[in-house]
Amino acid sequence: MSQRRFVVLKSDLASVEARRLAVEEKRRLRDEEQRRQTEEFERRERLKLERAEAIRRDDAEKMREEMRLDIATAIEQSQREAMFIAETPAMDRFFEDQVPKITEEQKQGIGTEDGYGIFIVPKVAKGIAKRRFIDGSVNVARREVRDKWSVIWSDKREIVELEREHEAKMAANRWRSERTRRESEAAAHLAQLREETEARKTRLVIPNFHLAHPPVTRCEHQNVKFWGTAYARGLRCKDCNMELTRSHEDVTQQYTASSDVEEAVQWHRLHEHGNFRPKSENQAMVVHRERLRLEKERREMYMSERGFYDLPMQVGVERLYQMHMPDIVNDGKFF
Ligand SMILES: [Zn+2]
Repeated sequence: MSQRRFVVLKSDLASVEARRLAVEEKRRLRDEEQRRQTEEFERRERLKLERAEAIRRDDAEKMREEMRLDIATAIEQSQREAMFIAETPAMDRFFEDQVPKITEEQKQGIGTEDGYGIFIVPKVAKGIAKRRFIDGSVNVARREVRDKWSVIWSDKREIVELEREHEAKMAANRWRSERTRRESEAAAHLAQLREETEARKTRLVIPNFHLAHPPVTRCEHQNVKFWGTAYARGLRCKDCNMELTRSHEDVTQQYTASSDVEEAVQWHRLHEHGNFRPKSENQAMVVHRERLRLEKERREMYMSERGFYDLPMQVGVERLYQMHMPDIVNDGKFF
């Protein structure tokens, strides 16, 4: 590996690291932005809820004020009316009629302050009757106004319940739409990431690379099974039933793209000068070209050699002859 190649590799790695850092930074920013959005949304929701509750609280307070005033007015008015009525002659007679009954009751201790019987004069008894009448009228008025307000309050409570229900529904709707928005945004983000990845991958793909693949002319043994017995084990192709642990012995599996050509080339290499009979002119041409392609300069040199194919043998014969020439000369009978 040359220095230059090493530098290129290093800078490649550096760019990978930089890209990783950039991606991480981007992701961090995105997460932060999402968290900020979520917090903002939740804050707004809380604010809305609080505002609605505050308005309702104010309303209730106002109503309570109104109620107090109303009750006070009603009691005061009824008291005034009762006092006015109590002064009329008809009522005066009514109080007079009650005097014996009240005197008797007081004597027996019914309706007295401490429960003990007391004697009272008719005037006091009349005063008690009058007071009872006024208190009763006021009580009636109080009960009426309270009933009125309890109906108003229960109506108000129903309205508030409905309002709250409605608000909860609206909030749920908002949450749903927010969730949908977030999901669609995440999907868009993911789609964009995928697109970027695809673009990067596309840049790395060499166009028409499949044209560089050699044509498939023999079993490529992609469907194999392991087998084993007590004595041996191996790997066998399920398609062509070949034992792949011995594949180095199969000449058709080597070098050439086509098994037919390979077989012919091997045969040609072993029997170039005798036994090789090409099936056609085309096959001879193919075999010659293939040998040239595989063996390169060595083949070219061989082809341009001036000597005949038995030249190595000739050299040996020559050496033998030279070595034994004196003996041959000495021992030879030439005449
Ligand atoms: Zn196979």
